[in-house]
Amino acid sequence: DTRIARISSAIRVIPDFPKPGILFQDITTLLLDPRAFRDTIDLFVERYKDKNISVVAGIEARGFIFGPPIALAIGAKFVPMRKPKKLPGEVISEEYSLEYGTDVMEMHVGAVQAGERALIVDDLIATGGTLCAAIRLLGNAENFNFYINMRSGVACLLILHIIFTTHPNNGDLFN
Ligand code: 5GP
Repeated sequence: DTRIARISSAIRVIPDFPKPGILFQDITTLLLDPRAFRDTIDLFVERYKDKNISVVAGIEARGFIFGPPIALAIGAKFVPMRKPKKLPGEVISEEYSLEYGTDVMEMHVGAVQAGERALIVDDLIATGGTLCAAIRLLGNAENFNFYINMRSGVACLLILHIIFTTHPNNGDLFN
């Protein structure tokens, strides 16, 4: 798909951010390119539109950029998964490990119902810790049956998808 190359080249790579040794994938440059941004959303919509997904769960903060346009296009609701103490209603929380220390992710009680299928959206997976917390959070919601399929279900972010499919050793995970 020729769109992948254009999207990939629209993502700026910044060495040593936020600290030495990290090669940061900066998606703000993708957002400056309307065609690449649209292609990004279209690719997700094409992939997930007929998968009976009723919930798009966006992880704060960059999942709030990519999640809502995907949700609107596939006819799903959007559920924000937020940093602690941001949501005003009753929440369920999930603690998870970062490279140094821990963080907490929260979701409103009642945002998802029994039997719904969710697509979790974020911009990038590094260790997978954030994604696993989001999966646990959805799994802990009462009676919620979540669906995990690394090929076509919950998790694959496009950037990760690009990185994995363009990396010779990793292509199998998503192909
Ligand atoms: P993980 O929990 O998989 O180790 O880290 C993923 C989380 O950290 C995501 O929420 C993602 O937004 C953020 N993150 C980690 N590294 C990068 C990066 O290089 N670029 C961007 N845009 N986000 C990153």
